Amino acid sequence: MPAFRGISRRHFLITTGAALWERSIVADEKEPVIDIHQHTGYLARPDEDLVSHQRAMGVTKTILLPAGTPVARASTHQGKSNGLAAKCGGNESAMSVAKANPGEFFFGANEVTDLETAHMEVERYLKLGAKLIGEQKFSVQCDSVESRKLYELAQEYNVPILLHFQHATYNLGIERFDKVLASFPKVKFIAHAQTFWANIDAAYSDQSVLYPKGLIKPGGITDRLLSDYPNFFGDLSAGSGLGALTRDEEHTRAFLTRHQDKLMFGSDCPDPAGTGVECTGAQILATVRRLAPTKAIERKLLHDNAQQLFGL
Ligand SMILES: [Zn+2]
Ligand SMILES: [Zn+2]
Repeated sequence: MPAFRGISRRHFLITTGAALWERSIVADEKEPVIDIHQHTGYLARPDEDLVSHQRAMGVTKTILLPAGTPVARASTHQGKSNGLAAKCGGNESAMSVAKANPGEFFFGANEVTDLETAHMEVERYLKLGAKLIGEQKFSVQCDSVESRKLYELAQEYNVPILLHFQHATYNLGIERFDKVLASFPKVKFIAHAQTFWANIDAAYSDQSVLYPKGLIKPGGITDRLLSDYPNFFGDLSAGSGLGALTRDEEHTRAFLTRHQDKLMFGSDCPDPAGTGVECTGAQILATVRRLAPTKAIERKLLHDNAQQLFGL
């Protein structure tokens, strides 16, 4: 029996140590994380894989951004950009996953910007509880008459609107977006994608380069918009967000400090894993945790800013 007791005691000490260590890991993982940028049907990913992907990343609340109605017209590149150019599901699909997972998944309202029925369709889902308008990813000028109608709707329903900026492809004319921000001071605009991130750099000169690399000179178009307009926000999602955060780490620390109240975590990745190198979202989370200058800033970026903006 003494031998057994000895082993038992050692076992007790080992398991106690392990439990303490485990608890600290679990505590970290249990910190709530809001992902404001995911999609149903993303490159045909099944809904159950989307749900497990989000849980594997440690995300506690997810906003699903629907595509517009599939149509062949100039604003969808004659249909090539239907499904947000990635087979993503529309309003019904996002709302149904949200309804099946209450409190964990939320949905946006969206439509092809210049479709005659856009206002009606978006309003319908706003009335059903959509948290924002988006993802607006269509080939229109960012200050087009049709875009402005959706900005007015965002103002009327007091919801943010999320725009994908991509030079020569989606939401054209970012150099004029300051005028939109000034005309709609009550609307919260959330920007993302290549042309938003490339333009944080004041030395960025060729708008056709979508994934610029190397050191960053502060003061680019979007860096200034974030500083100058209280209604302009950014999400950290996708390869463009990850690339911008990792290309100049010293710049990133200052950028995250400067815009700590304006940036929010988003993943926007189509993998089923939710972890490892194939998961952009997991890499963005790890990068924010590594480069956020303080724990308070990290919590703002991964949770608090989105909680406040969306009232989650
Ligand atoms: Zn996008
Ligand atoms: Zn992922």
